[in-house]
Amino acid sequence: MQKNRHEINLDPEDWEGARRNAHELLDVLFDRLKDVGDRPAWQPLPEEIRDSFREPVPRQGQTLDAVCDRLRDAVIPYPTGNISPRFYGWVMGNGTIDGMIADMVAAGMNSHLAGYDQSASEIEDQTIAWCCEIMGYPTTAGGLFVSGGTMANVIGLIVARNAADPERVRHQGLSGLPAFRIYGSSVTHSWAEKGCDIIGMGRDSMVRVAADDQHRVDLSALAEAVADDRKAGKMPLAVVANVGTVDSGAIDDLHALADFCEREKLWLHVDGAFGALLAFSTKLKHLTDGMARADSIAFDLHKWGFLQYEIGAVLVRDRALQEQAFATQAAYLTPPGRGIQPQDLHFAAMGPQLSRGFRALKAWVAFQHHGIDKIGAIVAQNVEQAQHLAQRVRQHEQLELFEPAPLNIVCFRYVADGVDDETLDGWNREILLRIQESGLAVPSSTRRDGCFVIRVAITNHRSTVSDMDLLLDAVVEHGDDVRATAS
Ligand SMILES: *Cc1c(COP(=O)(O)O)cnc(C)c1O
Repeated sequence: MQKNRHEINLDPEDWEGARRNAHELLDVLFDRLKDVGDRPAWQPLPEEIRDSFREPVPRQGQTLDAVCDRLRDAVIPYPTGNISPRFYGWVMGNGTIDGMIADMVAAGMNSHLAGYDQSASEIEDQTIAWCCEIMGYPTTAGGLFVSGGTMANVIGLIVARNAADPERVRHQGLSGLPAFRIYGSSVTHSWAEKGCDIIGMGRDSMVRVAADDQHRVDLSALAEAVADDRKAGKMPLAVVANVGTVDSGAIDDLHALADFCEREKLWLHVDGAFGALLAFSTKLKHLTDGMARADSIAFDLHKWGFLQYEIGAVLVRDRALQEQAFATQAAYLTPPGRGIQPQDLHFAAMGPQLSRGFRALKAWVAFQHHGIDKIGAIVAQNVEQAQHLAQRVRQHEQLELFEPAPLNIVCFRYVADGVDDETLDGWNREILLRIQESGLAVPSSTRRDGCFVIRVAITNHRSTVSDMDLLLDAVVEHGDDVRATAS
């Protein structure tokens, strides 16, 4: 195409050179993934690399060669580490080669996913429909891919909030209404308070009730809290059910919660950030029985769906309620009925974003390439690996398991006779940090029953049982060493 001399754009001057750069980086990434298990699970960012990023605003450009060299030498070698088979910190996924290819294709197409007549719209609709089917939802359900579990959960609450009094909440917000209340157990993830704040209800509207010894919400405590709030003139709105708590992987009694919510006319929202993915496994799907009775379900595909960040999903049993919460009208968005925008921008009408990327593609590609059964089989494999680790911890006299550990999360600590908890906290913190810094593995930590514990969460398609053994042996070895220097 002819260009006027004074007109500029951001395409390469040298297309062949740019293509070569892209191919080379793709090769670097493939090589690093192929033998990711041979490298440390994490390593600290070297100071000279950290310093190299602190630069003035780059007013003038440089060659793509030079920038790509920096990607290869200073950026790619120092990742979070969650691509490693021995990364079990927090709840992180590895990503896959097909996810990488899909993200590359999505970036190349740079589709705008508000709606529009394009292949990408069909793919997001279809992939959401598959997710609804897998989770046991009817065809009247709908949903949206969003950045992650937090956004997915927040959208669930927004739909619940607006469904309570649609016209009023949409137009006047919460002023003049009784204070809404959301309920969950004491072990609900911390997104809940943040979410209540984001949607204008305030953090105190999240009511945490007791959990039982299996970390499931205590139903009588819940019933009591709801009754007390009604008496006090508050407005109970929704219950957040946990399908996979962060600290132990516990799953609430979903049928009992669904019965309770039906009776009390409350919205039932499932936070299944990782646990909802059990529905992918033919072997473990039964653990999610009752989940499909919820009004909304949030889950992450970038955790136990093993995909690249960022992709979470929110599904709403009655998609009309989701549209009711988010649809807007504007002349510049009105569909003319034909052409590129034959209909309403239906993805924009299902959530807060207007401009949206093609994050659905990686799910579509991975589902097709592997099949849901294989993804589910790896979910079940992770549970077996965690149960192997838990069993070895139970049997080791120098280690203490924190029950319950029914799923893919195991919390434990190194112990010694006659040593108090405070000292053990210090020892276990030191053991954890030594293991992280050695690069052997990356577990994280939490507090259970007031104690500092090493926490292993396996949402990792690359991990193996022998990785569990390596970690356990390292904890004992470092533990013995820390104990020897302490005495
Ligand atoms: C990770 C997680 C979240 C938050 O999801 P993000 O994708 O990190 O925003 C919420 N609930 C649970 C149980 C989680 O594990």
